[in-house]
Amino acid sequence: MKRLSLSRRHMMLTAAAFTAASTSAWAGGNPTAKGEKIRVVIVGGGFGGASAARAARVSLPDAEITLLIDQPKYWMCPGSNSVIAGYSELSSIEVRYDSLKSHGIDVMLDPAIGIDAAARTVSTESGRKLGYEKLILSPGVAFDYATIDGISLETVDRVPHAWKAGPQTALLKRQLQAMPDDGLFVMTMPPAPYRCPPAPAERACLVADYLKKNKPGARLLILDAKDEFPFQELFSEAWDALYPDILEYRSIADDGVVREVDPDTLTAVTDFDEIQADVLNVIPPQTAGRIAIDAGAADETGWCPVDIRTFASTLLPDVYVIGDAAFADPLPKAGSTAASQAHVAVAAIAAELAGENAPDPSWIANCYSLAAPDYGVRLGATYIYEDDHVVRNTTNFSELGAPASERLADAEFTDAWLQQIKHEIWG
Ligand SMILES: Cc1cc2nc3c(=O)[nH]c(=O)nc-3n(C[C@H](O)[C@H](O)[C@H](O)COP(=O)(O)OP(=O)(O)OC[C@H]3O[C@@H](n4cnc5c(N)ncnc54)[C@H](O)[C@@H]3O)c2cc1C
Repeated sequence: MKRLSLSRRHMMLTAAAFTAASTSAWAGGNPTAKGEKIRVVIVGGGFGGASAARAARVSLPDAEITLLIDQPKYWMCPGSNSVIAGYSELSSIEVRYDSLKSHGIDVMLDPAIGIDAAARTVSTESGRKLGYEKLILSPGVAFDYATIDGISLETVDRVPHAWKAGPQTALLKRQLQAMPDDGLFVMTMPPAPYRCPPAPAERACLVADYLKKNKPGARLLILDAKDEFPFQELFSEAWDALYPDILEYRSIADDGVVREVDPDTLTAVTDFDEIQADVLNVIPPQTAGRIAIDAGAADETGWCPVDIRTFASTLLPDVYVIGDAAFADPLPKAGSTAASQAHVAVAAIAAELAGENAPDPSWIANCYSLAAPDYGVRLGATYIYEDDHVVRNTTNFSELGAPASERLADAEFTDAWLQQIKHEIWG
């Protein structure tokens, strides 16, 4: 993605706002010095936000930590493609917040609706106004429906994205199961950047696996708004081996861009084709979550620029943006990375409050995808900060042509990893 640079005027205004706000923020000195508690407010209880709350509880033992959530329970996206394909139930990816509460985190089911960065307050749906010394935003992604005619928030009950797990996951699963035996499942892959780069290809695999086992004669068509997708060789190898007669992939060059959708007839319109689907799974282009954009934490790209060493917003003082909402290339938009970013941000906050420099950051992206229940692939990497850049340090990628025993071992590890990160964050 090409990032647009901020105008000089915008940068000067932002710098001035930063100076004014930061000066007022600490005018009375460090709150801890006066025996007052530091207030850390975190928005969003997903991978990033819940991890940040836990990390802050440990690193800032005397702080008041408030986690604002917008639903009483949360469904993890990792594992959601397996739910759609019927390998597991929705309950297997559901988590609650009781454990975080028991660790002294003030979890409030009260979504943030506004942020006043100058006054350092967050307004909530119920009418509260919460003051903070540090605010961490981890609202995930929002869907940009404007780029495809015919779809909107109102059509997701007919044309689900299932790119935020939960009721959408259950709906797509029901639609798949109700499909005619010789039906056509059409899914789109969004333009980059988007949540979890390899996950659309994983979904394609698992939907194809379901069709192979349950719907003789059914087909899957993938329409990609890109020239290629991440780990394409690894997934193509699996597609060719497992689903050669079921799955068809069209990139931009093959007329893969969906311009328009009719949600009533489930027709996808491309530049040269009109495709009538039995199930139409459109994964729209994405931006940072709405609250981050409304707060002014996002730039023209729709994502939130941050100081990659600390995840401090470069646009708003005392605000940190982590997870999918942050512009943190080359770190992928993944749950494991969001958790890493949470630790980096909290460590930077703790260091600043202690009058120290932020420690050197590092990140981990632990991605595992299934091509079938007994066929897993590893797509992991670690990253460090070097010479003013984030650089990939090590990789843990599956090889092309790996033996079936390795694919099976990776499939088994996929579930083990999911159980572990679930426990670490919400358990
Ligand atoms: C199909 C699929 C498979 C995936 N597989 C993997 C995988 O194998 N490994 C991996 O690492 N990642 C995976 N991911 C990616 C992972 O789910 C995301 O990267 C991760 O959820 C990002 O965390 P986050 O905290 O930024 O956002 P989220 O986890 O989406 O959390 C944000 C939370 O904030 C809430 N929120 C938003 N606005 C407000 C507000 N105003 N007030 C209060 N709450 C608010 C949202 O409702 C949500 O609950 C997958 C994603 C998909 C779609």
